[in-house]
Amino acid sequence: MRSLQSEIEQRGTRILRWVDQHPDSLFSKAGFYQRLMALSMRDEQFKLQLFRFVDVLPSLHRSGEIVEHLEEYFADVRDGFAPFVHAGIRLARIAPWVSGRVLRWNVSGMAHQFIAGKNPDDVVKTLRKRRAQRIGFTVDLLGEAVVSETEADEYAGRCLDLLETLARETQGWTDPLGRNSELFPVVNVSLKISALYSQINPADPADAIAHLAPKLLPILRQARERGTFINFDMESYAHKNVTLELFKRIFTDRDFKDWPHVGIVIQAYLRDSEIDLRDLIEWGRARGTRFAVRLVKGAYWDHETIEASQNAWNCPVYSQKPESDANFEALTRLLLENESIVTAAFGSHNVRSIAHAQAFADELGVDRSRFEFQLLYGMGGPIKRALVEMGYRVREYCPVGELLPGMSYFVRRLLENTSNEGFLRAKFAENLSEDELLRDPRELLRTSRNGVLPRSNNLTINAMKEPHPSHNRSLDTPPGDTYENAPLTNFAQPENQEKMRKALSEMRTRLGKEYPLVINGEKIFTGKTIASINPSSPEDVVGAVAEAGIEEAERAVKAARDAFEKWRWTPFEQRAQLLERAAAIMDRRRFELSALEVFEVGKPWVEADGDIREAIDFCLFYAQQMRLIRRPRLTQHVPGEESYYHYWPRGVAFVIAPWNFPLAILCGMTTAALVTGNTVIMKPAEQSAVCGAMLMEILEEAGVPPGVLNYLPGKGSVMGAHLVDRKDVDLIAFTGSREVGLRIWQSAGITRPGQRELKRVVCEMGGKNAVIIDADADVDEAIVDCTYSAFGYQGQKCSALSRLILLEENHDRVMERLLKAAASVRVGNPEEPGITVGPVIDEAAYNRILDYIQIGKSEATLAYQREDVPAKGFFIPPTIFSDVKPNMRIAREEIFGPVVSVLKVRDLDEAIAVANGTDYALTAGFFSRSPANIERAKAQIEAGNVYINRSCTGAVVGRHPFGGFKMSGGGTKAGGADYLLQFLVPRVVTENITRHGFAPEQTPEYRDEFLWAK
Ligand SMILES: Cc1cc2nc3c(=O)[nH]c(=O)nc-3n(C[C@H](O)[C@H](O)[C@H](O)COP(=O)(O)OP(=O)(O)OC[C@H]3O[C@@H](n4cnc5c(N)ncnc54)[C@H](O)[C@@H]3O)c2cc1C
Repeated sequence: MRSLQSEIEQRGTRILRWVDQHPDSLFSKAGFYQRLMALSMRDEQFKLQLFRFVDVLPSLHRSGEIVEHLEEYFADVRDGFAPFVHAGIRLARIAPWVSGRVLRWNVSGMAHQFIAGKNPDDVVKTLRKRRAQRIGFTVDLLGEAVVSETEADEYAGRCLDLLETLARETQGWTDPLGRNSELFPVVNVSLKISALYSQINPADPADAIAHLAPKLLPILRQARERGTFINFDMESYAHKNVTLELFKRIFTDRDFKDWPHVGIVIQAYLRDSEIDLRDLIEWGRARGTRFAVRLVKGAYWDHETIEASQNAWNCPVYSQKPESDANFEALTRLLLENESIVTAAFGSHNVRSIAHAQAFADELGVDRSRFEFQLLYGMGGPIKRALVEMGYRVREYCPVGELLPGMSYFVRRLLENTSNEGFLRAKFAENLSEDELLRDPRELLRTSRNGVLPRSNNLTINAMKEPHPSHNRSLDTPPGDTYENAPLTNFAQPENQEKMRKALSEMRTRLGKEYPLVINGEKIFTGKTIASINPSSPEDVVGAVAEAGIEEAERAVKAARDAFEKWRWTPFEQRAQLLERAAAIMDRRRFELSALEVFEVGKPWVEADGDIREAIDFCLFYAQQMRLIRRPRLTQHVPGEESYYHYWPRGVAFVIAPWNFPLAILCGMTTAALVTGNTVIMKPAEQSAVCGAMLMEILEEAGVPPGVLNYLPGKGSVMGAHLVDRKDVDLIAFTGSREVGLRIWQSAGITRPGQRELKRVVCEMGGKNAVIIDADADVDEAIVDCTYSAFGYQGQKCSALSRLILLEENHDRVMERLLKAAASVRVGNPEEPGITVGPVIDEAAYNRILDYIQIGKSEATLAYQREDVPAKGFFIPPTIFSDVKPNMRIAREEIFGPVVSVLKVRDLDEAIAVANGTDYALTAGFFSRSPANIERAKAQIEAGNVYINRSCTGAVVGRHPFGGFKMSGGGTKAGGADYLLQFLVPRVVTENITRHGFAPEQTPEYRDEFLWAK
């Protein structure tokens, strides 16, 4: 008996020979597309520009715009094919309408190579052709990016139409093989669940299922009635568990339990995939009815890799291509071994993967009519034909829809076809030998373990494999690269959802406790308390914190002053390690702290977790930054003299923090002061004093000495104002409102009798942040990001979007979708996972925001206001005003709530002028796909943090050093390389080292003697 490998080779060779005898290009159409693909494979930069151009093209309406974009994307091309491209651009300039049309025609021709029809009627023509070739079909309706429930409902309606049309048009069609046809209905439809509910949140599968099930039921009923097969496609990892759970839940339901014509996708590139498949098989056996699995490698590899890297998550996908291939084969075996309950479909264009499935099925004696191969429309034509010739069942995946909603599908196909790692490119573009194409992936992995696997050409993966730059730091190393961020919690993982639920219920039992202030290590109850309440349920007291008055403030200043002399000379390393221990404690208590934030400040889960992550990052980043700047460093090599630059701490720091990032901002300012050798009086906001008490507890556990850190909650207007004026306070680190910030700035400028230092004020204030949506922007993305930036955490981030600036040209189009999106975001008690908009912080904020809404109603047009917000708690309905003019109060004043003003402008000039025409300069956003406009926005928008094509909130320590100018702040960026310098006094010591004309030849780079304690 021949070995499995030789069986695979024999079958693989047969397919490849057949393919060679029926030559077809990599892509089924020649000409323009093929030439572009060939160029793309030669030059990564060209490929990038081309795909970006293709992405924007369908949203350009005028020929002039198309030509402008063409020029912007390709004018800098400097390669062998530059003359070709430049000639095209010149031609386009001469006759823009002709060129615009020709380009659009060509690109839509390219896309239609992968899109089988514009609508259900249109696709039937293709299906008929395939029928003649004995190829079956599954139809997929394009349109995965739904941003509102209206759009999701429209998609569901289109699915019903599709089912109807297909059933009608295919009457009398029979199974191409005529054997085991009961397993394979002729009509087969693939669904993407993300298109049926716009608010799927990985943290809340139950909510997603509750919304998806009722939308799916009519579709499934109709499909069953018409004898149609329904397949659930699999999308990104974030949606995986919801999709699996939904599938199992629905098809265990009484109505569908005995329906065999349902299937789901398993992605072999996922490390979890074997567990998921085994679980499905077990579920299927318990259900007692056949079902199907389409096994694929997976279409979102780049997305998963980038997302995991950005969030510091364990990457859910394999990093080496042969690992995915080997896993595909392992799962193929598992599927075929369980053929008695599961019908397998192998979705691959890789001849090795296909041949392996064939050979293994034969080995097990599974008849070739009991499983099928599925390939995508427009790809691998000769492979499909070879499989049909060999007597296998072949089904083609046929996407249907317009170009715009189909763009993300089209770009995925372009990436796949030009991927350095892909089989199609290897076979058709690079003509690898049969031996190489049919090699056992496990063999490749074995060689890789010996270190010989050819280096991946994939840019993302290579960047990840490089040693971390901190190991090899030079002046060119980006400062943030010296630091690896703490991970966010991935709430797509059920164990993390469970931990959070448990933490919330435990925290509930601890509510109402009393917390002391801490001065010089002593825990003090003053007899007066500040009650911190739950904004979702104001009668619930989260905790009562002892309130400090003037007397306690005086004691705290003395304690901090006394502790300073010792602390300032404590070795930097010890101080840095203190921060690292604090970070470790926060990490240990992560879910508990997040739960506290949910109760105390109404943060949704993800936001609370983001705040704890930021606090951890501040500790670790500042510890590391301190190590970088800690040693006295030679200023210049000059014979006979040496000068060393170094830093001293300033003295006593008074830290005044807001409630909206109750741990992160308080922790950031406090740890920056501590690690630089200052002693600290830490005043949390009254609304988040329990979070402050937790931070004190954490830093004490980490070992902060008595007096070095003093915890002093109290009234800002009394105790806070007293300390701001106090001569013994050397530095004030403040984050909060403009009103209070300016008062502090002014007051700190007055020198009091006996004051030894000019007070340094690190002052971060508010914003009136604008986002501009350009005419060619990706509206799907812009709407999602703007809705989140405006309404995420109830608009109570200083970075939140408050002014949305729309060009006349796209105003109505964007508004229509924005209002629907606002109507769809989840508003509710943030104890529930997946909430976007919770309550605002307290009654005062509630009333103030409602006042602004009244002002808005009198100044502008109320375009949308949500009605279904909870009655209990401080819930403000998400609100959008249109016809807002720049001089109106709602366009000028910070509202700090879920209220957005939309301003309509003529063009980009006016948009930038309006964006900049405010007192503030904190964050801003710009959505565009015009390289020239993006450059302009980067250069001209006045804001401390300018975000292009992404949300304007969510700064990450080290990556997006955060802070503004104008009336937004008078400090340097938090989480940036120079933040710590504000807490330090620079000092230079110069020594003449010449004696009678003689001087040492070498001067050391660093000298540590200035750091010695007195
Ligand atoms: C009919 C059909 C339906 C499909 N449905 C879905 C679906 O619902 N959901 C979905 O996600 N995908 C789906 N796909 C799969 C996807 O779209 C790709 O077509 C498929 O992954 C390509 O694999 P291949 O075996 O044809 O090619 P190959 O060239 O052998 O494999 C390419 C694949 O390998 C993986 N890969 C690439 N680089 C690496 C690396 N460095 N490390 C690890 N793995 C790597 C990626 O998954 C990549 O797509 C479907 C495919 C078909 C044919």
